[in-house]
Amino acid sequence: MDPNLGFPTTIRTKHKVRVISASIDHKLIKKRGTLVGTSNIVENVAFNLIKQAVIYLPEDVKQALRKACAEETSEAGKTQLKAILDNIDLAEKYQAPICQDTGTIIFYIKAGAKAKDLDKIEEALMKATKRATVEVPIRPNAVNPFTQKNSGDNTGRLIPWINWEIVPGEDIEMTVLPKGGGAENVCVMGMLVPGEGITGVKKFVVDAVMKAGAKPCPPNILGVGIGGGSDIAMKIAKKALLRPLNVPNPDPEMAKLEKEILEAVNMTGIGPMGLGGKTTVLSVNIDYAYRHPASYPAAVAFNCWASRRATARINADETVEYLIHKVE
Ligand code: SF4
Repeated sequence: MDPNLGFPTTIRTKHKVRVISASIDHKLIKKRGTLVGTSNIVENVAFNLIKQAVIYLPEDVKQALRKACAEETSEAGKTQLKAILDNIDLAEKYQAPICQDTGTIIFYIKAGAKAKDLDKIEEALMKATKRATVEVPIRPNAVNPFTQKNSGDNTGRLIPWINWEIVPGEDIEMTVLPKGGGAENVCVMGMLVPGEGITGVKKFVVDAVMKAGAKPCPPNILGVGIGGGSDIAMKIAKKALLRPLNVPNPDPEMAKLEKEILEAVNMTGIGPMGLGGKTTVLSVNIDYAYRHPASYPAAVAFNCWASRRATARINADETVEYLIHKVE
């Protein structure tokens, strides 16, 4: 089926939004007829992104899962991969989230330095998250760590988390990464021994995968962050999860290291959902920052097979382009 069915096409009409499918409830659009004002557009686009992300896996992830299924030699592993692929089809057919755990909502915003209403984006993302909780629906996953009370709407202090990047221009690019709890629970950060260098990193990543076992719902995608500082390593590791699985690392040395680590972690035999097989990890995505001479931080951010992400760009003329889940 059309993986994009149910979502609006690229929107080109200035100040007016044309919607191809009615399956998304564009309350703002119906109410006003037009969408004037960046914050309204941001809210609506963020809502659509959350809905796209939790229902439809990006094509590169689906392709990697199909390839893994075709090549899996373990009977138990193949059965798991078939079940995952069936699950993906059913989610698309019934317009339901691909997993009951719709994750913690994390946004990555590339804000053009000259874009309008940047100060209103945070509130718009908050509103979109609350709407998505009710209207998609997605599971309320935001809990106060002191009182253990669930906010009921996926928002709370610093949640949804927003990663900001200021870029030249007037456009706003928004990505949502709903981060599942099982995979999040095994993310690790370590201060390695500088003298061990990349050998230490390889050991650190393989150890992390072996320790994680079935917990992060393999097959996984690993974001690996090297250098910077303790917080920077994890930040770039998590951001590396956004790189499509079919896009090689532009740095040939990093690409070689990714391949080596991928081969090593897949020799663990943990396999799909931990039931044995040759596919424990679909991709290793590495990024790095320069480090302090005395420190060697490294981080591994796990994502599960339900590796969800969706991106859109709001152009300066208020047209919107959906960059991962496109409609012709
Ligand atoms: S880790 Fe991923 S696949 Fe597993 S329950 Fe959480 S969201 Fe679902």
